Amino acid sequence: MSKRRPLVAGNWKMNGTRAEAAALVDGIKNGVSSASKAEVAVCPPFILVPLVAERLAGSAVVWGGQNLSVHKSGAYTGEVSGPMLKDYACTYAIVGHSERRTYYGEDDNLVAEKFAAAQSHGLVPILCIGETLAERERGQTEQVVARQLDAVLEKSGISALGSAVIAYEPVWAIGTGKTATPEQAQAVHKFIRDKLAKLDRHIAEGVRILYGGSMKGSNAKELIGQPDIDGGLIGGASLQAEEFLTICRAAD
Ligand code: PEP
Repeated sequence: MSKRRPLVAGNWKMNGTRAEAAALVDGIKNGVSSASKAEVAVCPPFILVPLVAERLAGSAVVWGGQNLSVHKSGAYTGEVSGPMLKDYACTYAIVGHSERRTYYGEDDNLVAEKFAAAQSHGLVPILCIGETLAERERGQTEQVVARQLDAVLEKSGISALGSAVIAYEPVWAIGTGKTATPEQAQAVHKFIRDKLAKLDRHIAEGVRILYGGSMKGSNAKELIGQPDIDGGLIGGASLQAEEFLTICRAAD
């Protein structure tokens, strides 16, 4: 297990009524103690952020947004900005989730801008990168994650990774029930860390690299037990308090 503090972050995606969110977040809050080694975060849909913020205030669990605008304010209908998330005491903002890249056309440059916008408003970006199945089968995994990382490095520089989290999320494993094997995931995590180490060894050793892609209670321990896997970004399994807490305990 690594020396970095593990992080388990739940990405609720577009799920939850107020009642469901309240029950879920209370269940999670009651299962996480301030003595937990792992940091625990939840990222609800924007409209549920105020409710989650109110219920988690003063607890050991932190929260964040699933996306943010590159703009601070103004005529951008439908968008939510970094200062708005910060106003609700968000710690994190997910940027570049594969669903944003695939369904909303977010390219590497836009993701790099969102990463910079998050940091400029005091949010810690959780930068999602990862290859599709076709890219993996063509042997392009490293090339793809390197390209996705380079866009951020070119815009913000290596020092920006000192206050960011990376989530390696192979697209073929997200929501599919197909998890990368611990060996497959570790190989890519190591590739990412080695790439950053060429620029700054200290930052590379400190940055948390989460795995995401059908992580659940039954496979979390083996994945998070890999030397370069520092926790998980959890979709489906973060919608059930007990399942999510099992992952949190595995990271402890
Ligand atoms: C995700 O949404 O980031 C994710 C990893 O989803 P799932 O855990 O459902 O694969």
